[in-house]
Amino acid sequence: MKKLVILGSTGSIGKSTLSVVAHNPTQYHVFGLVGGKNVTLMTEQCQQFQPEFVAMDDPAAAKQLADNLRQLKINSEVLTGQKAICELSSHHEVDMVMAAIVGAAGLLPTLAAVKAGKQVLLANKESLVTCGQIFIDEARQSGAKLLPVDSEHNAIFQSLPPDAQNKVGFCPLAELGVSKIILTGSGGPFRTKPLTEFATITPAQAVAHPNWSMGQKISVDSATMMNKGLEYIEARWLFNASADEMEIIIHPQSIIHSMVRYIDGSVIAQMGNPDMRTPIAHTMAYPNRISAGVEPLDFFKLNQLTFIEPDFARYPNLKLAIDAFAEGQYATTAMNAANEVAVAAFLNNAIRFTDIASINRTVVENIAPIQVREIADVIHIDKLARELAQQAILSV
Ligand code: NAD
Ligand code: MG
Repeated sequence: MKKLVILGSTGSIGKSTLSVVAHNPTQYHVFGLVGGKNVTLMTEQCQQFQPEFVAMDDPAAAKQLADNLRQLKINSEVLTGQKAICELSSHHEVDMVMAAIVGAAGLLPTLAAVKAGKQVLLANKESLVTCGQIFIDEARQSGAKLLPVDSEHNAIFQSLPPDAQNKVGFCPLAELGVSKIILTGSGGPFRTKPLTEFATITPAQAVAHPNWSMGQKISVDSATMMNKGLEYIEARWLFNASADEMEIIIHPQSIIHSMVRYIDGSVIAQMGNPDMRTPIAHTMAYPNRISAGVEPLDFFKLNQLTFIEPDFARYPNLKLAIDAFAEGQYATTAMNAANEVAVAAFLNNAIRFTDIASINRTVVENIAPIQVREIADVIHIDKLARELAQQAILSV
């Protein structure tokens, strides 16, 4: 049995991961669960999966969980705090870690798993956006196996030759005959909405994604296409791709999850229903396959597959992310932090939908460039960028 820790088990990816585990009960054992503050759901997950350890970021939530488990006579040991979570994700008994905490909060526990040489199922894209080089270097050094969970990157990974799959972060694309990585995105819920109506978009409209069911933050990011911007950065790190080796295409049906173009004219795509259990199951079983509980793709029910060029006037965050990567690690870190603050403010009705991109750009343009060498630099920039974003919010 493979022993698994799930960082962010009460979230959208975490729940889907547990659903794949429940589908394959003889192959996986849930060793540890980590969540923020949803005690009710964490109690249920402990009842069903009986992990050795369970951690809540919020100390009050951890205390409440411990009380609940005692009453239910469940023996999982309850932990709290970042240090304990990092120890759990690097525990010597653990084989694989699902990194699915949302945002920069996921950085250190994910890095701890990488440093400990685990099989790391990487959903937390912020890890690569803010610490790309550090993560790739650490994985190379520890021998950690990085497997992308994000559906696009998982599709690209599946469409690459085995030689590249074994060299995530440092694969020589050109030597392998790859000419382009094609990142696809649905374009979100506002692909056809008149631009004049963007300022009045509400949080409820922004979180209603047409194809995917996801957490709130990533749903807003999909609507602004910052999600595709973060994924562009993630892809450049994971696949060691230059700007010229990247292509972004809007594909509204989300059936093709991304593609790889080869120099002989071949294009290899990975397709499926838009259900995160597919890439999750792929990373859990790699290089084998397990059942994910996902409906088979019914080609006769598909109307058409269409493809459109992205329009930067509609999606300024996408352009910002591409520019920020060219600037350097400090800029993508600042952009990510600003975006977390701006999206939270939008969800709280404090700013307009269109303010998100302008706040992000203001922060990236005003942050002082520094060379990012270690995680402390990333944390420093993250903090400064959050402060700048708060100031920018006050002046919109
Ligand atoms: P979510 O908001 O549904 O879940 C987030 C999880 O993180 C929850 O379990 C929450 O309790 C936990 N958490 C939050 N702050 C924490 C903290 N400080 N310490 C410990 N736990 C904490 O988010 P999600 O949609 O599941 O996304 C998770 C990650 O996966 C994100 O980085 C996202 O970009 C990425 N991702 C998600 C999807 C998707 O379909 N949902 C697809 C691709 C990538
Ligand atoms: Mg994605």
